[in-house]
Amino acid sequence: MTSVIPALIDSLRKAAQGDVSTDFPLAVRTSVRVGGAARIFVKPKDPQALVAALGVLSDAGVPWHALGGGANTIVGDAGIDGAVFKLGTDFSPDQVEEQGDAVLMTLGAGAPSSRFVSLAKDMKGVGVAAWASGIPGTIGGLVAMNAGTPAGSMSDHLEAVEVATPSGLSWIPKEKLELRYRHCKLPKGAVLSRARCRVRRGTDEERAAEQRAVKADLEKRKRTQPLTQPNSGSVFVNPPGDFAGRLIEAAGLKGTQRGGAQISSRHANFIVNVGEAKAADVIDLLVLARRAVKNATGIDLVPEVRLVGTFDPPLPAELEPHHQLPIHLAREQVHA
Ligand SMILES: Cc1cc2nc3c(=O)[nH]c(=O)nc-3n(C[C@H](O)[C@H](O)[C@H](O)COP(=O)(O)OP(=O)(O)OC[C@H]3O[C@@H](n4cnc5c(N)ncnc54)[C@H](O)[C@@H]3O)c2cc1C
Repeated sequence: MTSVIPALIDSLRKAAQGDVSTDFPLAVRTSVRVGGAARIFVKPKDPQALVAALGVLSDAGVPWHALGGGANTIVGDAGIDGAVFKLGTDFSPDQVEEQGDAVLMTLGAGAPSSRFVSLAKDMKGVGVAAWASGIPGTIGGLVAMNAGTPAGSMSDHLEAVEVATPSGLSWIPKEKLELRYRHCKLPKGAVLSRARCRVRRGTDEERAAEQRAVKADLEKRKRTQPLTQPNSGSVFVNPPGDFAGRLIEAAGLKGTQRGGAQISSRHANFIVNVGEAKAADVIDLLVLARRAVKNATGIDLVPEVRLVGTFDPPLPAELEPHHQLPIHLAREQVHA
C-alpha cells in the first residue's frame, strides 16, 4: 500500500458504518505511547459491519491488524501500512444467560476487560475478579493473549469465540484455540468479535474472599509495578521455573535507559516511557535484555509484547520471529 484511494475510504465507511480515518496516530492508542500511524483506522459499528469492512479490504488487497486496548502492543515507528481495526466498547451488547450454578456471559471483543470483572460481580460469579482486575485492555486482548496471573487466566472461563473474516462470522470452540500460557491460536487474519465465558456462581464467603484477593493484588501491583509511567506490562513471558524480571535484574539492567525508554527501576520486566520514547528505543532495550540474559544464563527470553507494523530501523533478526505484520486474507481463503 503506498497511497490510500479515496474511493476505498468511501466504500469502507459504508461497510463499517462507523469512523474511518487515514494516517491515524497509534501511539496514543497504546499504553506505552510509542509508534507511528495507521494508514487506515476503522471503527466498525457491529460484527456484521466488521465482516463487510473486511470484505472491502480483502477485495482491495489491503492487509489489516486488530488492535484492542494496546496494553500489550508496541507499534513500529514507521506505523502500520494497512488498516487497523478498533472495536468500540458498544460493538456488541452483553448477553447473560443463567445455567444452574453458572453464568454464561457473551461479551463484545471491544469491551474493556473490566467489563468481564464487573459483569461477573453483578451476577454473583467467582473466579474472575481476583485475576483479571489488574489487567488493562479489552476482551479481545484478554482472549488473544490468554491473559492471566498465577490466580487464573482467560482459558479457565472461555467457552467459545466468534471471529470475523471476509467470508462471515463463525464460532470456534475453546478446544480449537490451543490455549496455553499467554497463547491463543486464532485463524490467520480473523478478528475476534465476541467471546463466550462461563463463570461459576459463588457463595457470599467466596465472593468476600475474592474481593480481599483483588485488594491484595492491586496493592501489590502498585508497590511493584511502574503504574504511573506509560508501559506495556511485562515485556517478556516468564521462562519455565523462573521470572523474566528476576533474570533481567540479575543481569544488572534495572534503570538502564536508551533514548526516552528505560528498563523500570521498579520492575525489570517493564519498559517505561520516561519522555519522548521511540519504538526503536524500546526495541534497543528488549534486545539488550535478551542478549544479557542469554549470555549470563543461556535462557532465551521470549517477548510477551506484540511487535506490530514497520520498525525503523528494521527489527534485528532475533526479534523477527515475534514480528506481527498486518495480514491480508482473500475472501475465498477459508480459515482452519
Ligand atoms: C500495567 C499493566 C499490567 C499488566 N498486567 C498483566 C497481567 O497481570 N497479566 C497479563 O496476562 N497481561 C498483563 N498485561 C498485558 C495486557 O494488559 C494484556 O495482554 C491484555 O489482555 C491486552 O489487551 P489489549 O486489548 O490491550 O490487547 P492489545 O495490546 O491491543 O493486543 C494484544 C494482542 O491481541 C490481539 N487482539 C486484540 N484484540 C483483538 C481482536 N478483537 N481480534 C483479534 N486479535 C485481537 C492483537 O492483535 C495483539 O496481537 C498488563 C499490561 C499493563 C500495561
